[in-house]
Amino acid sequence: MATIGGLSDPSQMEEIIASGKADIVYMGRQLLADPFLPQKVMENRDEEIVHCMRCFVCMSERAATSTRRCAINPIIGREDEGMEITPAPVKKRVLIAGGGPGGLYAAYTAARRGHDVLLCEKEDRVGGILKSEEVLPFKQEMYQLGNTYKLLAERAGAKIVTGQAVTKEFAEAYKPDALIIAVGSSPLRPPIPGLDGENVILVNDQYKHEKPVTDSVVVFGGGISGVECAIHMGMEGKTVHLVEMRDDVALDSVIRQRPLLLDKLYKLCTVHTGYKGLEVTKEGIWCETREGEKVLVPGTTVICALGQRPNWKTVEELYNCAPFVRVIGDANAVGTITKATYQGHHAALDI
Ligand code: SF4
Repeated sequence: MATIGGLSDPSQMEEIIASGKADIVYMGRQLLADPFLPQKVMENRDEEIVHCMRCFVCMSERAATSTRRCAINPIIGREDEGMEITPAPVKKRVLIAGGGPGGLYAAYTAARRGHDVLLCEKEDRVGGILKSEEVLPFKQEMYQLGNTYKLLAERAGAKIVTGQAVTKEFAEAYKPDALIIAVGSSPLRPPIPGLDGENVILVNDQYKHEKPVTDSVVVFGGGISGVECAIHMGMEGKTVHLVEMRDDVALDSVIRQRPLLLDKLYKLCTVHTGYKGLEVTKEGIWCETREGEKVLVPGTTVICALGQRPNWKTVEELYNCAPFVRVIGDANAVGTITKATYQGHHAALDI
């Protein structure tokens, strides 16, 4: 008897069984991400399936704390408390500012509890920082997550409006009983000469395709977003250098994912650790090495991946606009999708 695992797309599974390639297709992580997948398939609701992102949070958490957890399903590991969402005793008017993963999950949970939910996203589509994954072929499940959460929230009864920022005036006029502030974070761009140049692209803006990317790239910043970007550029056949001030890269990735990332990175890119970026030019980034030597790391396109900062100004503006307020996700402190999703879910349970 042949078996195949590791899939999350029902049509792929059906094709494998129908073609005789295997007798059984099994699912592991996919059922953590969405235990209701079989039911959704039976009811022709495939578009509601939350697809596993292959992010390795579940396996890393198990190794670190012996607990099971899924980045995008806050119920996992707490099944003893019940899989059902308890209806709220009093229906409230809930306003959610921001349509990233945390805001969307908050809308989904709050709507399932019977609240009257309005989520406003200032950009023309939801997803928040997940939109930046659109350009990475190996991160498509993560990119799609925003659209799936939106669909789930809307089908649960939430109203979602794009192109509408929640300002103080808007919130005061709307008079919500509860306000969830999920306004995310913005890229850090330190005052390094040339970092505002024409050849510099913020890593989160690549999906906008506003500037061309040449065949010779320097990625500035070796956190997980810089590393994944460098791998993507390397896979496209570009010459890629990565500059990181610390002694190592991808330190913010989870323990099961990091070795896989590093393996790919070192095969596809030249990595410079202990390099402090001094100046960005059209030819690349002038850096100071650990030994104090000045060197040019070459690349005609520079991708800036130097981290994020919470949008605290908007948080401060909105903080007193309702009797119940929660600040979640990156707006609270820059973190992970896991944190944003869990905080969104629990903020909605508290209302
Ligand atoms: S934690 Fe990540 S890899 Fe694990 S099941 Fe959830 S989405 Fe999939």
